[in-house]
Amino acid sequence: MKLGDLGEFGFIERIRAAAASGEGVCSGIGDDCAVLELPPGHRLLTTKDLLIEGIHFDRAWIDSRCLGRKSVSVNVSDIAAMGGRPRHLYLGLGVPNDFSVEQLQLFMDGFLEAVSEYGAFLVGGDTCRSPGPLLISVTAEGSVPAGREICRAGASVGQDIYVSGTLGDSALALSRLGAGMSVDPWLASRHHDPTARVALGQALAEKGLAAAMIDVSDGLLADLGHILKASAVGALLEERQLPLSKAFRAVLEQDLQQMQLALSGGEDYELLFTASPERRAELDVLARSLDLSLTRIGIVTSAGDGLRLRHVDGHVRHADSRGFNHFANSGHTNPQQ
Ligand SMILES: [Mg+2]
Repeated sequence: MKLGDLGEFGFIERIRAAAASGEGVCSGIGDDCAVLELPPGHRLLTTKDLLIEGIHFDRAWIDSRCLGRKSVSVNVSDIAAMGGRPRHLYLGLGVPNDFSVEQLQLFMDGFLEAVSEYGAFLVGGDTCRSPGPLLISVTAEGSVPAGREICRAGASVGQDIYVSGTLGDSALALSRLGAGMSVDPWLASRHHDPTARVALGQALAEKGLAAAMIDVSDGLLADLGHILKASAVGALLEERQLPLSKAFRAVLEQDLQQMQLALSGGEDYELLFTASPERRAELDVLARSLDLSLTRIGIVTSAGDGLRLRHVDGHVRHADSRGFNHFANSGHTNPQQ
């Protein structure tokens, strides 16, 4: 069935029926606006991400259900990166003619499933036909107790630099998919179905453990570069300390060049943050309680040092903080990104 046969209102009615409502949602889908309420003393966090077929994803490589889930996670990850709790999502869709109602249903199943897993609600959106690629525009709102939000500008000299989980898995999966190689299912899921680190972000904010934070979407060096610029500091990273998965290490053993993917590959959606060395014991306890690794990968230095990396061979070199720049590319999906 084509979307045109079901009609825009028929589609919206299906979504309205499937979308849950709950805490803070006075009125969700179905009126001119959503009517929402935040707990007293909380601030609103808002973020938006645009996913365009051919630039951010390829429908040949990702199924519609995962695409729905990922559209949620990449937005919720930005809420997590501020230490917030995700609450409301808005979905804008431009649907091409060859995207069937069945595929759309799978996309929405994945989208709503992920929204529910993060404890949030879909409260509005819009849809229309796209004459070109599939367009997915998601806005996410979250909340954080006033003054507890963790910004990029909070880093200072002498702090430790941490990252959650492992690095480079998503970029490695993408590069193998692009080369037509087989991909381990766990590795593929790191690219197709990433997890936003919401519980970690909220715990860091509530306990005041992180001074500056960002999520790793453009790559470790690029995203750390954003913290350094906002905080007017430098950093020394230890390549040897970078947390790598078993699947990533297996590939690295065959080809050392792949280390570049852990440094500059994007879409890990792990949290990268700085913290005072006095908080190390508390961070160890938090990592254990969340069953999520938190790895100390470097220290914050003065601005004049820039971003430096101590390689495995012991040499310290200035790192290139440039990650993937959408405007510097041809606009087509590049497996090397
Ligand atoms: Mg971000």
